[in-house]
Amino acid sequence: MKRQFDQIAEADLHCHTTASDGLLTPGELVELAWQKGLKAIAITDHDTISGWSEAELTGERLGVEVLRGVELNTVWEEKEVHILGYELDGKSKILQEQLAELQESRFIRISKILKLLRQSGFSLAEDDVFKFARGESAGRPHIAQALVEKGYLADVKEAFDRYLGFGAPAYVPRLKLNTTDGIRLIREAKGVAVLAHPGLQRLEKKTIASWIKFGLQGIEVNHSDHNRQDQQFYGHLASQYNLLMTGGSDFHGDNKPSVQLGRWGVSMEVVRQLRGLENCKQVREEVGN
Ligand SMILES: [Zn+2]
Ligand SMILES: [Zn+2]
Repeated sequence: MKRQFDQIAEADLHCHTTASDGLLTPGELVELAWQKGLKAIAITDHDTISGWSEAELTGERLGVEVLRGVELNTVWEEKEVHILGYELDGKSKILQEQLAELQESRFIRISKILKLLRQSGFSLAEDDVFKFARGESAGRPHIAQALVEKGYLADVKEAFDRYLGFGAPAYVPRLKLNTTDGIRLIREAKGVAVLAHPGLQRLEKKTIASWIKFGLQGIEVNHSDHNRQDQQFYGHLASQYNLLMTGGSDFHGDNKPSVQLGRWGVSMEVVRQLRGLENCKQVREEVGN
C-alpha cells in the first residue's frame, strides 16, 4: 500500500466512522490515517464510542495512535452545540447509560417520523432508512435519502423543506443533552471536554467563558468549516482563557471531497497537552464539588 505524506498536521482530532455517520469503518479510517502519514487520530463519532475497539486494533497494527473520543450533540438556547470528549473512560457507567439513552432516543424518533410520513402518504420501512446510516446513528438525513431513493421527492433539500425540517409536518424534536450537562458528562467519565467548531454556531465569547466553570478545557480552533477569522478569533479566546487549542478535519469520508483527513489537525505537542489535562486531578476535583 502506498503512503502519501501530504498532510499538514501530525494528528487529526475530529473524525467520524460508520459507528455514526461516516463512510469508512473505524479500521479503514485508521488505515487511511496511516497512508497519509498521520501519527495520531481521534475517533469522535456522534453520541457513540462503539468505533473505538476496531480503530485501536488497526492502530496497534500500523503504529498509529488512536485517541478515544466522542462528539456529543447538545443544545444551548436552541442552538446545536457539539462537545468533543477525549480519552474518556469507556467503562464509566454514567457515560454508557447516557450514550445508550441517546441512541435509543434516536431510534424512537425515527419510528415517530416514519409514522408521521405515512400519514402524508409515504411508505418507508425502518430498514429503508438504516441502510443509509450504515451504523448506529441514523437520523433525518438518512430518512431524506430514503425518500429520494423511493422516488417520493426530488432531493434531500426538498425532504427537509417540506417534511422533516423544524415545524414541518413530520418534524419530531430530538432528545438532547444540555451543553453544560454534556461537558459534565465527559468530565465525569474522566475525559477532556473541548468545544467543537464554535465558528459554525457563531458562539459568543461570554457564552463560551461561562462553560469553563462546568469543566470546558479546550476549543477546536482548526476545523474544516472555520475560516481564517474564526481561527484567529477562537484561537485568541482560547489563549485568553488558557484553554487547549485543538483541531481536526471532521472527516466523514469522501462525501465531502473538500474535507481531507489530516488537514486542520494539530501537532503531537497538542496531543501531549491533551493527555496532560486528562491527568489533571485538581481540576477534576473542582468539578466534582
Ligand atoms: Zn459537529
Ligand atoms: Zn463531527
